[in-house]
Amino acid sequence: MKYLKLSLIAISTLIMLTSCEQKAKDEVKTDVTSEAVEETKVKSILTAEEQAGMTPQEIIGRLKKGNENFINNNLTRRDHSAQRRKAMIGQFPKAIVLSCVDSRVPVEDVFDLGIGDIFVARVAGNIENADIVGSMEYATAVAGSKVVIVMGHTACGAVKSTIDKVDAKSLGMNSLADLIDEIEPAVGETALDGERNSKNAKFTNAVINNNAMRTVKNIREQSPTMAKMEDDGNIIIVSAVYDMESGKVNFNVD
Ligand SMILES: [Zn+2]
Repeated sequence: MKYLKLSLIAISTLIMLTSCEQKAKDEVKTDVTSEAVEETKVKSILTAEEQAGMTPQEIIGRLKKGNENFINNNLTRRDHSAQRRKAMIGQFPKAIVLSCVDSRVPVEDVFDLGIGDIFVARVAGNIENADIVGSMEYATAVAGSKVVIVMGHTACGAVKSTIDKVDAKSLGMNSLADLIDEIEPAVGETALDGERNSKNAKFTNAVINNNAMRTVKNIREQSPTMAKMEDDGNIIIVSAVYDMESGKVNFNVD
């Protein structure tokens, strides 16, 4: 009996030791893996040479590739601390994106981009105004960005409110009423059979697309400088719509 007891103690001690050894091995393995992950993280940011070396078409191609990474849940790992330090020297972003304020549209993630990669301007319904166009002139004519994207998105509340003629003024929101007025022409311009309300998804999506295209047209009209840059082939101004369900950005590249 005593012998049996001793044997049991010996076996359990052996099991404990083995499991400790395995745990130690796992910890080492985890360390090695996290080191490897650290190594693969992007630590650099866009340089002036890289910005200068890309054509507008190439940039759109890269943005599309980045969007594929986002759709496939395969975002680039970034060392934000290292990138933040390098970004102190200056910025050479390749594009400016005008997006709606919607919290479900994480612009940098949507294109798999990070610090120093793009300018982002945001306003509900992605409409243009003097301040937005001024920011775009800075991004392109001063800071060297070569692509301007006006990106609407499916299920846009600002567009839906405009379609449904929400009376924001009567609710005491005069500025929101002004914003809705800015989107309204896109509703008027959208010819489509069926009900003209936001329950009609086909109609709503057509207005969302037209609203983004209309903003591009207005930007060209409001900024002769950017219109000329585009005519000369130095920049591209393009509209797009982000599909919230699939994650895909559909460009209206003509
Ligand atoms: Zn929106």
